[in-house]
Amino acid sequence: MARYDYDLFTIGAGSGGVRASRMSASYGARVAVAEERRLGGTCVNVGCIPKKLLVYASHFSEDFEDAHPFGWTVGERTFDWATLIENKDREIARLNGVYRRILDDHEVEVFEERAVVVDPHTVEVAGKRITAEHILIATGSWPRMPEGPGAELAISSNEMFHLKRQPKRALVVGGGYIAVEFAGILHGMGSQVTLIYRGACFLRGFDDDVRSTLAAEMKKKGIDLRFERRLDEIERTGADGSLRVKLDDGSVLDVDQVLCAIGRVPLTAGIGLEEAGVKLAPQGAIVVDEYSRSSVPSIHAIGDVTDRINLTPVAIHEGMCLAATLFRGNPTAPDHENVASAVFSQPSIATVGLTEAKARERHGQVRVYRTRFRSLKHAVTGRDEITMMKLVVDAATDRVVGAHMVGSEAAEIVQGFAVAVKAGATKAMFDATLGIHPTAAEEFVIMRDPLAPPEENG
Ligand code: NDP
Repeated sequence: MARYDYDLFTIGAGSGGVRASRMSASYGARVAVAEERRLGGTCVNVGCIPKKLLVYASHFSEDFEDAHPFGWTVGERTFDWATLIENKDREIARLNGVYRRILDDHEVEVFEERAVVVDPHTVEVAGKRITAEHILIATGSWPRMPEGPGAELAISSNEMFHLKRQPKRALVVGGGYIAVEFAGILHGMGSQVTLIYRGACFLRGFDDDVRSTLAAEMKKKGIDLRFERRLDEIERTGADGSLRVKLDDGSVLDVDQVLCAIGRVPLTAGIGLEEAGVKLAPQGAIVVDEYSRSSVPSIHAIGDVTDRINLTPVAIHEGMCLAATLFRGNPTAPDHENVASAVFSQPSIATVGLTEAKARERHGQVRVYRTRFRSLKHAVTGRDEITMMKLVVDAATDRVVGAHMVGSEAAEIVQGFAVAVKAGATKAMFDATLGIHPTAAEEFVIMRDPLAPPEENG
């Protein structure tokens, strides 16, 4: 008889937890997973997927305008938030079902309940104790909310997806992925949007040319960007839910919603981790080794809860590596180098590899190639939107160590170039690649003249 009820018990059925569970099962492990919310986790329910649907929805306003110079007359335009949310919910429900089927097909037992760790080999679910040789924590993260007067009146991205009405006037607080994405979404739907960020320019950690290009483009569209600004106070002013917001420079805004997107915290509280001896970092993330093992050898963690690179494909990759490590006899450390990512802002951003600043730090001498142009489409529409592309090349090896883009379909374009960067392609190989004409993407292979190096002492 088996020593434990299961070989693996996973807490959290998000992207990472589901992938780790089903891969482990496919290698012959007896697996169970517990989820207290909806299957699919943040990405499917209140993250990547519904967000992308909202981005599609919001882009139509510009598409209708752009159609006109191409000869189209578009009739009266109205936008119905409720229709969008209903259709979005239908798609999410379908995906919840897909996740359920994936687990059922792999004979992974699903507990739609909260689970807590009791000891290194035991969890408690719905009042029942279950043992497992390995426990995987894949509980993800949760929006951080601000403190201060009226902070409870603000909402997070979780609530944004379920609002009954479109906020016609919105304040977005924060300067990360979620803040810039929602600022663009709401603006595209016709809302009046102000975004405040505490630093000098949002999207810290992205390449400086990317940050400044996006800021300029968002301002041109009419989004009120206010940097070096903080929220002081929120108060309710009307029975209709209107809010009055005071900022740290004394300015006052009247809005319908305040969306706070000031980061996310790992979901590790209250699930028995510290009691079981699992070491947590100061912000609550589970400390893991290169194989995703915690300080307790039978307890592992993947995804946002470990706060490594908080992206769905990374969590999935970590899950697959863990399954191979535990149940395939093939210890595999996840590879966190050159992970491409996108921000579905408007225009969108995509990036792979190092920023110019990081490349200078790591490689010393670098060559930088940059182009800015108005796309062929906008030569006709007259829309004043600039596309920016940039390559960062290690001068010693000629390898392209960073590729960055701001512009339409940036994510679709950079995904392909990410293969080249991952493979260690040199700039000479980019130069030897012929473009597909006419595209924006071809600019990535026809940039010939590096920018002048920055002043030695400047
Ligand atoms: P981020 O960590 O990306 O950004 C947080 C932002 O909030 C930063 O601008 C930060 O400023 C600011 N901030 C932090 N604390 C405070 C505070 N106390 N007061 C005011 N501002 C503050 O978080 P998000 O919430 O945008 O996203 C969470 C994660 O979700 C991201 O890390 C990302 O990995 C993932 N995500 C990915 C997406 C994608 O791939 N397209 C889309 C959405 C989310 P500062 O820079 O000064 O620290």
